[in-house]
Amino acid sequence: MQELIEKYPGKILDGKTLAKRLIDELITEAAESAKKGLVPKVATLMVGDDPGSAAYLKAREKNIKKIGFESIVTKLGADVSTDVCLKALDALNGDKTIDAIMLQLPLPPQVDEEAVAETLDPEKDIDGIHPMNIGRFHKGLSCHVPNTPLGIIRLLDEYSIELKGMEAVVIGRSNIVGRPMAGLLLRYHATVTICHSRTKDLAGVCRRAELLAVGAGHIGLVGAELVRDGAIVVDIGINYDADGNMRGDVDFPAVIDKVRLISPVPGGIGPMTNATILRNIFELAKRRRSG
Ligand code: NAD
Repeated sequence: MQELIEKYPGKILDGKTLAKRLIDELITEAAESAKKGLVPKVATLMVGDDPGSAAYLKAREKNIKKIGFESIVTKLGADVSTDVCLKALDALNGDKTIDAIMLQLPLPPQVDEEAVAETLDPEKDIDGIHPMNIGRFHKGLSCHVPNTPLGIIRLLDEYSIELKGMEAVVIGRSNIVGRPMAGLLLRYHATVTICHSRTKDLAGVCRRAELLAVGAGHIGLVGAELVRDGAIVVDIGINYDADGNMRGDVDFPAVIDKVRLISPVPGGIGPMTNATILRNIFELAKRRRSG
């Protein structure tokens, strides 16, 4: 990261350093509240053995331990039915000692993801995937907002980016990335367009963007022809190339000369998501325990 910052001074949205600072602050706060008896407890439901999910879970568990939160992981086999998942989730919902539940996605194809999301206790829904939380979010009411978009807004705020009136384009319309990203940008008064796999003129739409947020899951989808001069580019993608290297959705070398700011992969949005999840577990636990 330091190398990138030195090579492209003033252009890198450094999520890694900010996330570390936020986690350090959280460690101090969590230690204080542990003295008063509040130790948040998070449960993760993981179904199947997706290697990306397993790596992600391992990294998160390490951070959770570092902060001193309690954590349990329920693992189910890759061939389980929706019913088995729902029963496991019911048990976590009913456990009064658990403050937050994370559903590790993706689920195997035979499991009905909607049924699982709807069964999750909305009060423990740290990812904001329960329909009630999605509805409240889009009405602008208090709710659990998906962590990745929230982390992105925090990173942009760190660099004093004024979103009001900004022309923003989001690539991707999933429930945990694209849609809530667009919704949050709207909440901050940006003018927002969402692109997806059926958008006709992706390059034409993206070139209008003063802020381009990309969460499509395609290595190098965004090259120079999609980027307006002076744009801020947020690369949300986490992909792995044939050599096992983590890569984003943006062709970083191709766009770096055009951008005003860009989040690299790795070191940009991934660490911000992790820091935001941990903060949200803490806030959720405080809220639940205070009734
Ligand atoms: P998804 O597959 O659910 O959604 C992808 C979206 O991109 C879809 O809406 C699709 O229409 C759109 N899309 C795909 N190909 C496209 C194309 N060629 N042109 C335009 N739009 C296209 O994926 P997701 O869960 O939203 O994740 C997206 C990416 O973000 C993945 O790489 C994922 O690993 C990454 N991700 C990163 C973080 C993080 O913390 N950085 C968190 C979650 C997901």
